[in-house]
Parts: sequence; structure tokens; C-alpha cells
Amino acid sequence: MNYQKILEEIHAEVQPLLAKSHVADYIPELAHISPKKFGMAVLTSEGETFQIGDATEKFSIQSISKVFALTLAMRLEGDAIWKRVGREPSGTAFNSLVQLEYEQGIPRNPFINAGALVITDMILSHLDNAHETLLAFIQKLANNKNIVFDLNVARSEKETGYLNIALANFIKSFGNLKNAPENVLNAYFHHCSIAMTCTELAHAGIFLANKGKLPWNNEKIVAPNQAKYIKSLMLTCGTYDSVGDFAYRVGLPGKSGVRGGILAVMPGKFSVCVWSPGLNETGNSLAGTKALELFTTLTGISIF
Ligand code: GLN
Repeated sequence: MNYQKILEEIHAEVQPLLAKSHVADYIPELAHISPKKFGMAVLTSEGETFQIGDATEKFSIQSISKVFALTLAMRLEGDAIWKRVGREPSGTAFNSLVQLEYEQGIPRNPFINAGALVITDMILSHLDNAHETLLAFIQKLANNKNIVFDLNVARSEKETGYLNIALANFIKSFGNLKNAPENVLNAYFHHCSIAMTCTELAHAGIFLANKGKLPWNNEKIVAPNQAKYIKSLMLTCGTYDSVGDFAYRVGLPGKSGVRGGILAVMPGKFSVCVWSPGLNETGNSLAGTKALELFTTLTGISIF
């Protein structure tokens, strides 16, 4: 398989889409970036890396952090997680409040903001420094110490995150946060602000393609069935209310973030990360989704 040639073809083909999308600006610090940026990186289970475009430029991983937070929470709490968070697609926007009221503060899944706040609360109950611990965990997953918070992004979100603040307080009112909402939010905003490149994210996701183990030293991150659970949730809940369209077009479990990154994995074969900050109306990268669709089409490899 000539992955490099396929990445070059994709890079050329998505160019017209880059001008057609808008970057997220509801977090002021995210507003100032060119929608023309595009990068993509593939890491195979044999350890080969292929990359194109802006694959080595850092961006805040935003909601992709929810995959790593869930992984950490599974290690800490196991199945007890599911008493406090559901496992169904939400069919609503990532920051929606509506379901929470009639579902009594139990978020639909760990990959919408409400669910990630509950997961962050679980991590905080075990560890005072939840955000530093998640960063160290991601550094281990990516085998790379050169990963840090973008503190400007964290601060910007803290200053303007009224909706997330409302979500946290609402969940607290139902008793589904054990810690103070401001502490949960502080950790959550830091998680979203972690800055990584496509290549680093592809490394951080490879344990999911490798039955829960890091391929370079065989270290167990989660059990094989837990890796399965995480990927199943990515497939059914990882791209919000366009999850059906994403599964149809791409055919891989994936998780997106509003800075335009998407991490996807093919069990036994590779992890792939694409980044392009211009978003579609559901908050997923427009060119990034197209690039992944082209990738599974041109390689002929998907889970289906
Ligand atoms: N930090 C963002 C928020 O909470 C993450 C959302 C996302 O990436 N979809 O609004």
C-alpha cells in the first residue's frame, strides 16, 4: 500500500473545500487561524509514519481529549462509569443542554461536553491534579514528552465558556458531579487546550488499533475489550449529530474536535489523524471528513 501517494492525492483533492468552511470562533482564541491549513498523518501498526501538509503543526485537540479522558477513567473506575454516563448517540449538538433535563443529569455519552464533564469529575475524584495527570497520560500514549497545554486557549475558554459553565452547574444540581463545578471545568478546559500535531495524535491513538497496548513496548493501556468499547463509542458518538454521516462515508471509529482535528483508527492496521480548522455545520472538520472518506476509499480499508 503506497500510503504516501494516497496522502498526496487526498491533499490535492481537498484543496477546493478549504476555502468553503468557517473556523470555530465561539472560543475567541480559536478565531484567528487560516481555514487553508490542512495536515494528515498515518501511523501503521508496523511503526511506519506517513504525513502530508501541516501534519507537524500543533493545534488544540479540543474534544479529541475526550477519548483519552474516557480511557483514563476506565482505568480508574471500570464499568462503574456507566452508572453516571450513557452509551447512546445524542443526536444533538456537542454542547446541547436539552436532553440533560429530561434524562435527569445523566449525559447521553462520554463524548458530548456534558458526558466529558462527568468523566472529568470521576478523574478528579481520584486525582487532585486531573489535568496534569491527563497530560502525562497522553505523553505516555504518544511516546512524546513534548506535548503541553496551550494556556491561551484554556484561559480563553474559561473566560467565555458560559454554556459549559451552565452544563456543569446543571449536572451538579442533579448530583452527578461530586466535585465543585469550577474545579471540573478548569480541568476540562485544560484537557481541551492540549496542543498536538497530527503525527503526535496518530501515535496517541495507536493503542486503540493495537488491542489496547502500546506497540513500541507492549505496555497495556486498557484490556482488549475496553479498547473495543472505546472504539465502539467513537463510531456511535464520536462526531456528534453527524455520526451517521461520518460512519457512512468514512467507515472508521473517529473522534473530532472543534479546532478541526479528527482521530480515527483501523483495528490491527493503523491510526490516522487529519487536521483542517474549517468546520461543517455540525462542528466537524469539513475537509478532514472528506479526507478520511477519500482515505478509506482509496486504500479500500475500513471496518466494513
Ligand atoms: N472545548 C470545546 C467546548 O467545550 C470542545 C468542543 C469540541 O471540540 N467539540 O466547547
